[in-house]
Amino acid sequence: MEYSMNNASLIDLKNLTLEELTEFLAGMGKERFRARQIMRWMYGRLAQDFEAMSDLSKELRSQLSQRARISHLVPETVEESQDGTRKYLFRLEDGETVETVRIPMEDHRCTLCISTQVGCAMGCVFCHTGSFGLVRHLAPAEIVNQVCAAMAEAPVNNIVLMGMGEPLHNLDNVVKALQILYTPEGFDFSPRKVTLSTAGLVPEMLELGRRIRVNLAVSLNATTDEVRNRLMPINRRYPLAELMKACREYPLQPRQRITFEYILIRDTNDSEQDARRLVKLLHGIKAKVNLIPYNEHPASPFKAPAEESVSRFQGYLLDRGMVAVRRASKGQDIAAACGQLKGKLTAAQSR
Ligand code: SF4
Repeated sequence: MEYSMNNASLIDLKNLTLEELTEFLAGMGKERFRARQIMRWMYGRLAQDFEAMSDLSKELRSQLSQRARISHLVPETVEESQDGTRKYLFRLEDGETVETVRIPMEDHRCTLCISTQVGCAMGCVFCHTGSFGLVRHLAPAEIVNQVCAAMAEAPVNNIVLMGMGEPLHNLDNVVKALQILYTPEGFDFSPRKVTLSTAGLVPEMLELGRRIRVNLAVSLNATTDEVRNRLMPINRRYPLAELMKACREYPLQPRQRITFEYILIRDTNDSEQDARRLVKLLHGIKAKVNLIPYNEHPASPFKAPAEESVSRFQGYLLDRGMVAVRRASKGQDIAAACGQLKGKLTAAQSR
């Protein structure tokens, strides 16, 4: 984001929902429709300053620039993998960094994977971000600006909140960012195109369902508390039975399903008994299972599953009428799994 000495006293309009922006402008004695106009400029046309807003009077633009600003992000580095996955590293105003990944889909559409925190407090043992701990939450502006920066390059069709951080640990800012993404005068994303992935913060999951519509993905990765406690420490606070109960209570639209992400790790969670237990756990839930073979990397003790155990696992689920999709790990050559770019940079800096 661009930063100047007096930035701190200015309100960043990218932090405001339409309602809050309307209120802010009302405080300046301005009409309600101005908020929609400004939203259209900031998100529809990706304007980065008030000068560009040619349908606002000169006087209003000058009043706005005395009280407010429009932050934006510029990628510090962009890496592109052979499969077309692009990974952006953004430096924030306080010097911290986050990453965002653009994933091309088969039909020429693309999904953007965005971050919601710097680091993460959840400590999942298979995840590089988890090993940094939580540094801080991202502000709504820092979340939506990842989308603005990617959109400036090319259109984005779907958004997944699956980058660095546990979105539900930063619930208020994430809900605001979703409201901004959904604003018709802004990006006008349909909630059907946005998916939030959680490690399983149960009370916040239910709170999310009460506050806003979004597709839910649960990072499951185990079928017993013993294994899940080991892989994902959050399971000690909210064990599988509680998590599954919350999934059963999550409000779904008629054709909506909860996605369960299951990273298959060799000799840890990839057996036929696991497949059997998974079917039982998801019984009665409108579910879709994403099977993701573990992406091995040098610093990790875990191994990728054997090809045949992946097929056997998937076959077992399909035979029992479940929706089970095998997901290729995209961008393997640029370490696009969550947090790995930051890991590489930190390693390089500490050398
Ligand atoms: Fe956090 Fe997600 Fe990594 Fe778990 S997998 S530590 S929730 S970023």
